[in-house]
Amino acid sequence: MTAKVRTRFAPSPTGFLHVGGARTALYSWLFAKKMQGDFVLRIEDTDQERSTEESLQKVLSDLKWLGYDWQEGPEVNGPNQPYFQSQRQAIYQEHAERLLKAGKAYYCFCSDERLESLRETAKKEGRSPQYDGHCRKVSKEEAKERLAAGEKATVRFQIPEEKDHYVFQDLIRKEVKFPKEMVGDFILLRSDGMPVYNFCCAVDDALMNITHVLRAEEHLSNTLRQIMILEALDYPLPQFGHLSIILGADKQKLSKRHGATSCHEYAERGFLPEALSNFLALLGWSHPEGKEIMPLEELVETFSLDRVHGSPAVFDEEKLKWMNSQYLRALSNEDLWQRIQPFLTAAGLDFSDAPEDWKNKTLDVFKSSMETLVDAVALYQNMSDAHFQVDEEACAEVLSWDTTKAAMEVWLQGLKDLSGDYLSEEDFLSLQDKVKSDLGVKGKHLFMPLRVAVIGKPQGAEMKLLVPLLAKSSLQKRVEIVLEKI
Ligand code: GLU
Repeated sequence: MTAKVRTRFAPSPTGFLHVGGARTALYSWLFAKKMQGDFVLRIEDTDQERSTEESLQKVLSDLKWLGYDWQEGPEVNGPNQPYFQSQRQAIYQEHAERLLKAGKAYYCFCSDERLESLRETAKKEGRSPQYDGHCRKVSKEEAKERLAAGEKATVRFQIPEEKDHYVFQDLIRKEVKFPKEMVGDFILLRSDGMPVYNFCCAVDDALMNITHVLRAEEHLSNTLRQIMILEALDYPLPQFGHLSIILGADKQKLSKRHGATSCHEYAERGFLPEALSNFLALLGWSHPEGKEIMPLEELVETFSLDRVHGSPAVFDEEKLKWMNSQYLRALSNEDLWQRIQPFLTAAGLDFSDAPEDWKNKTLDVFKSSMETLVDAVALYQNMSDAHFQVDEEACAEVLSWDTTKAAMEVWLQGLKDLSGDYLSEEDFLSLQDKVKSDLGVKGKHLFMPLRVAVIGKPQGAEMKLLVPLLAKSSLQKRVEIVLEKI
């Protein structure tokens, strides 16, 4: 029987959840789901200075927003707890002791000055800086005495002599070969006893029975150290898969320069989590038939590691917007209303008393002009009398035309003459025709004054769709406000 698939996502809570991190989490989650395995969340917070509670909470809430639930980890716990590396110090200590005892690690007493001069020399000679193994010769007894006398020491891993290179089969990049000389004896525990990332990560992946480690390409060079540690401890190796780098539209590594890079920002900008996940899934993986729109459940069905490719992926925000608009249109009006509501509220727009029927009608009309949830704000601003304002600058030209005032007066009278609380599309079109024939105006001299009379701006709304959504009383009030300005 093959072992149950167990993947993990191991964020360091030192900032927001980056979209690259979210893609790693997504692939790990998808693969675990697909294989009916477990997805573990482990918090790599050994860097006490940079890790913050605030960042942790943001990472957790972003993962929840995206819908990647974890079977073990913070909040849910599990058989391998604790899931915070800062609470696993004793475990790393014990593993360091094991390696020291077996002669696979040693205490290093070298001063910072000596290490610095080694680095300088290597730099001058054009070599990559590596520790020269100076303290390998310090006997266990001598080390003990020096420690007892209060000397500070790091614990270094002793690179095994037997192999001259390491080869492993990466799930994405296929065969990866590292020459042993790529690393010198590296530190496992710092002189203050704090373990380093590679040590914690290797130990935890083993103890948490992780079978597949998916992570960003930039960790590839860490994998050699982790393999060495795991072999020295006689632990089985997980399978590794290193995901390609994500580039911005200019083919440079995706960074702040390109705009939003955190999931949080995408949420704030009105992107739907299902659209973001779908988009991220395609940054390095493709559907066998090239299908593009796939909600999470469908991704779980079709995802496979053999279709994840190693070439750089380009983060095309225009495509993300398109995808978002597709998801947004497919939502039921009820669901969509719930999602836009926080954005409307934040913009001071309150439609809590609006009848369901009105919400449905407005959404039917507006849905197709929304790419993100934020777009609802400008659309609904036009619907709110409290927000009605004449944009004097934009309207100056229209208000200066000779025929504008008369056009608005015909419009107002027409509104008064109509019965009922709302205009139908036909009512609007025939009233517009009346303005046209009464005054002999057409084109922009017809459309723009009417638009100013309705939304306070000469551009930005399809009137025959918008007007039937506004109460007649509201239309009257608005044109009266504009007429006062002429
Ligand atoms: N804590 C590491 C990071 O956030 C995790 C790397 C790994 O997955 O091994 O980059």
